[in-house]
Amino acid sequence: MVKENKMDKIISLAKRRGFVFQSSEIYGGLSGVYDFGPLGVELANNLKNLWWRDMVRCRHDIVGLDSGIFTSPRVWEASGHVSGFSDPLVKCRVCQTRSRADHLLEDLGIMADEKMSEEEISKIFDNNRDKLKCPKCGAKDFTAVKLFNLLVKTNLGDFSSENSEPIYLRGETCQGIYINFLNVLNTTRQKLPFGIAQVGKAFRNEIAPRQFLFRTREFEQMEMQYFIKPDEGLTEYQKLKKYRWQSLLDLGLKKENIRWHQHENLVFYAQEAFDIEYNYPSYGWKELEGIHNRGDYDLTQQSKGSGQNLTYYDEEKKEKITPYVLESSIGVGRLFLAIFCDAYDEDEIDGEKRVVMRFHHHIAPVKVAILPLLRKEELISGAKEIFANLCKKYSCQYDETQSIGRRYRRQDEIGTPFCLTFDFDSLQDKAVTVRDRDSAKQKRVLISDLEKYLEERLN
Ligand SMILES: [Zn+2]
Repeated sequence: MVKENKMDKIISLAKRRGFVFQSSEIYGGLSGVYDFGPLGVELANNLKNLWWRDMVRCRHDIVGLDSGIFTSPRVWEASGHVSGFSDPLVKCRVCQTRSRADHLLEDLGIMADEKMSEEEISKIFDNNRDKLKCPKCGAKDFTAVKLFNLLVKTNLGDFSSENSEPIYLRGETCQGIYINFLNVLNTTRQKLPFGIAQVGKAFRNEIAPRQFLFRTREFEQMEMQYFIKPDEGLTEYQKLKKYRWQSLLDLGLKKENIRWHQHENLVFYAQEAFDIEYNYPSYGWKELEGIHNRGDYDLTQQSKGSGQNLTYYDEEKKEKITPYVLESSIGVGRLFLAIFCDAYDEDEIDGEKRVVMRFHHHIAPVKVAILPLLRKEELISGAKEIFANLCKKYSCQYDETQSIGRRYRRQDEIGTPFCLTFDFDSLQDKAVTVRDRDSAKQKRVLISDLEKYLEERLN
């Protein structure tokens, strides 16, 4: 029997337990789009809320924003996306499968990336044609490399058939931040350095979406753009790097599974670019978060495009400056997948094998499961009363089906930190059995002490 690898197990658990579904599955699936199920949406919301807490609530110097997904097409012309936001595409002449030229080269260990020009990447691709095989049929017969634009076009506002100017779904959330720079500056009276943060959907017409949640066509970004004086670049960049690294560790990601990666090929405007990579099972080290010093490129481009002066009046120097931008950008899907891989564990309890998701308590989709030992009226009503009290504070699950052992395993598999069992003794001693997910140890706790007990352990 072939041993199932860890990533296969994770993907199958994600589906089986209602974390992640393929989009439009009953119609055969829509490639590159996924739906979060009942537990997935809880986990994703926890990740977004914690990011928001770290990046907005705990920072007097950062404010939030929620800009539209539709924006003027001028925004994407100014940002360079209309002309330059593209992936290098090749097509297999035998089976017609489309692939990304940079990915095929990468699989051979040859450095290539999407920031290279069409000529640059064509040259590298052509020099290696004898080694490059179609991932589907194995043929070595590819078309020439062609750049393919990633922006997703819509027909919003187009009520005639001849109108040719498309409105795009945004390709990244940060442009919504740049175009609101003056609005935020004028309404909040922030002084440099200050940041604007946003969580929201972005869309890319990926040629070959792959690797589960890692590369999708519709995804959610958590981005913060930090505006600084140009000469503050180095210190502020170091501070942001340190802050984001710690923030990921606080989510429970293991230190040995994340690392810094410095970009070798910087885009022409970038001052400095580091990624935090995660060591995904089967995929290897891949970008989880980007932390980049983008210089004054973004505000300069949107100033040129709009004709508005996106500058800041520096009171010390008595002059107008275009701030530099430090960007921190992480995808909800990529973080979700990293968290999922990190939490996955198998062990043995009393000679029985189990799968346990060791989610950090504050990101676990369900914090407390409340279980009547048997389906008896008096036990059910006792358990439901506890549920009614705790559900206002924590995400709880009530479950009365199957044996208590099976129910414990199910809660382990979705990473619930605590199970409370209401049994016949509970009617007398007014206490429940509290079972800890990680150790499987059980303890008797008075019902009247439950809130305090959980608060000490969950918060
Ligand atoms: Zn082929």
